[in-house]
Amino acid sequence: MIEIDGSMGEGGGQIVRSSLALAAVTGQKLRLRNIRRGRSKPGLLRQHLAGVRAISQICPGTVGGSSVEGAELGSTELVFTPSPPRGGDYTFEVGSAGSAVLVAQTILPALLIADAPSDVTIGGGTHAAWAPPFDFFERCYLPLLARMGVRALTEIQSHGFYPAGGGKISLTIHPVQKWRGQQINERHGTLQPRVLALAARVPESVAERECDVIRRKTDWEPSAFETQEVVRSGGPGNVVMIECGFDNVRELFIGFGKKGVKAERVARGVLADARKYLSSHVPVGSYLADQLLLPMGMAAANGCHSEFVTSELTPHSKTHIEVLQQFLDIQIRTDVRKDGTTHVSLQGSG
Ligand code: AMP
Repeated sequence: MIEIDGSMGEGGGQIVRSSLALAAVTGQKLRLRNIRRGRSKPGLLRQHLAGVRAISQICPGTVGGSSVEGAELGSTELVFTPSPPRGGDYTFEVGSAGSAVLVAQTILPALLIADAPSDVTIGGGTHAAWAPPFDFFERCYLPLLARMGVRALTEIQSHGFYPAGGGKISLTIHPVQKWRGQQINERHGTLQPRVLALAARVPESVAERECDVIRRKTDWEPSAFETQEVVRSGGPGNVVMIECGFDNVRELFIGFGKKGVKAERVARGVLADARKYLSSHVPVGSYLADQLLLPMGMAAANGCHSEFVTSELTPHSKTHIEVLQQFLDIQIRTDVRKDGTTHVSLQGSG
């Protein structure tokens, strides 16, 4: 049995999600203690619970009943006894603006080694703070996984903005036939920017004002800008996203419109994030770094070496590395280079 202290390092929900995913992938029994201990509301929140329930349906256990003990709101301890993941049709509901994408990322590793393809529908937030926006998942994360042998397609059926949530995404996931590693050590080609501002039950002029600010402050072609009135959504919302595409990697930054915050300010904020990434010259931003570790770890455990360059590793990523090393027989090396960037490499220990 693997014991994970949920309060270690960064101590967030990611320890919960990654530990569940890795237990499912490796078939190891997991005990998680001190879940989100340092947080203002410790224990499992609705969004984490949705991930726990989802993974326990996919790996239902071998002895009748559930494969998870402690799957309750506020629970600070849980035990997961996974059975091999089963592909199939699944529907999960987060039940708040909690992130549907984070649930997708929790179950994806297990479904990549399942016995059959899967069709999954997840209801919840699609563009919520502190989680990967759907567009990041679809346009930045999954294309990189595709290069590693992953066949997974996703679609958005309806948008779920904070606080109403109520969005819906679907995924088709095929088990991986053959893992491949990948190297993302620099950006290839020139910047292909894309700015997309969404307005749901909010005047489209808000989205236009956001695009205007970014257009005025950059030399990006008019064709890079798009506004969309979102018709299907669980509630009102406005976001503006800047995608920084290169030939080998894409990053995406998001600004959330809020009541009482001017659209211009939201646009300036997201542009500052994009500029920070662009001026860092690293290919992999801090969120992507965090999220690439798990699939790259799986590939490394299958003998495929991966590496990437990012800025300074966040506490999130450092904790994630610790979690990965408890489950997988792999070596993860992180080298901080003279220019302050970090080179991360993952390979099997054999
Ligand atoms: P946690 O805070 O532990 O629940 O983890 C949040 C997860 O969401 C991490 O994997 C982050 O990399 C990811 N995340 C948060 N904000 C963003 C964002 N704006 N874009 C992409 N990923 C994000």
